[in-house]
Amino acid sequence: MTPAPSTPLAKALTRRIAEGGPITVRAFMDACLTDPEHGYYRTRPAIGGAADFITAPEISQTFGELLGLWSAVAWQAMGAPSPFQLVELGPGRGTMMADALRALGRVAGFAAAVRIVLVEPSPVLREMQRTALGRTGLDVQWVDDIGDLVPAPSILLANELFDVLPITQVVRTADGWRERTVVLDAEDRLSFSVAREPWLSPLPAVAAHAPVGALVELRDLSPIAGALARIGAREPVAALFIDYGHEATGLGDTLQAVRRHAAEPVFEAPGKADLTAHVDFEAAARAFTDAGFQVERLSTQGEFLGALGIAERASRLMSANPARAGEIEMAVARLMAPEGMGSRFKVLGVRSPGLPPLPGFHTA
Ligand code: SAH
Repeated sequence: MTPAPSTPLAKALTRRIAEGGPITVRAFMDACLTDPEHGYYRTRPAIGGAADFITAPEISQTFGELLGLWSAVAWQAMGAPSPFQLVELGPGRGTMMADALRALGRVAGFAAAVRIVLVEPSPVLREMQRTALGRTGLDVQWVDDIGDLVPAPSILLANELFDVLPITQVVRTADGWRERTVVLDAEDRLSFSVAREPWLSPLPAVAAHAPVGALVELRDLSPIAGALARIGAREPVAALFIDYGHEATGLGDTLQAVRRHAAEPVFEAPGKADLTAHVDFEAAARAFTDAGFQVERLSTQGEFLGALGIAERASRLMSANPARAGEIEMAVARLMAPEGMGSRFKVLGVRSPGLPPLPGFHTA
């Protein structure tokens, strides 16, 4: 007997494939994350100790505070334009922006100049962000999509956004490169396959000598780079994108479902698990240089937070809260761990060509 689909989204996708044929991995990922009715980010709080996964701003307040101070330095390097917009893409629970704004409270002129804009498609998370930022007393504006931002001097921050943007997977078969798809197996369960037609678009150089079975992942960041170029056509723009992934384009399947802090098979619970894939920072950097931006040399999270003074910030916090000193120290150690988040996460800095190099990056 055929087992029933595991979730309402699995059921909807099973029907969609039965009626319309195979869908691409990209369409599958997109549905799992942003389907208006059943998508993971539309329906679930997702992030935090008690939810499915935990992110840097939820681990330590120093993360958001340092990014806030970084924003102040970047704003000053632009000539302290007033007004300007401080934008966060995919703010989750709003913790990072709340921590950033607290640290920025003492920067002269900042509060009067700043307009806060959050790019967040999820109504559930918008509500949490409203609560987190309510105490700041500053006006906050929400938009659904980065394409909705208006031209202005801008500083953009994004932590763990790229990894949830859908990817395309292309597989080398005995008959050449084919896009990976999702089909129904003999028992009507969701499973992977490949398209019948050959893949005709360009592939990265690593694909040239890849063996049969090799897999390439592509993620189109040109809509984000293009949106930044539009808001920055006449105004200065500086942006930080922090995420986990690899420095150079490689081969291999990194698509992963995560629920309650553990990885699980991708088809186990569509719409109820987070679905992510590593960021290819070589491709990401190219998307921004192609759109006319300067890109800083890639830093690891550990190098970047170290350069911004996380050790000093943590010791000041510890002296102010001696009862919590051990907890603060452990949280910061987790963000900086050389074998963990400190090196797995990378920081991509992007700026308008007219601006000086961004703070916190190696200039050599
Ligand atoms: N930055 C937060 C949350 C990371 S989770 C943190 O570090 O804790 C990913 C976030 O991106 C969520 O807020 C999710 O709703 C949002 N998101 C997903 N797709 C998006 C898109 N296309 N544009 C903007 N935000 C998106």
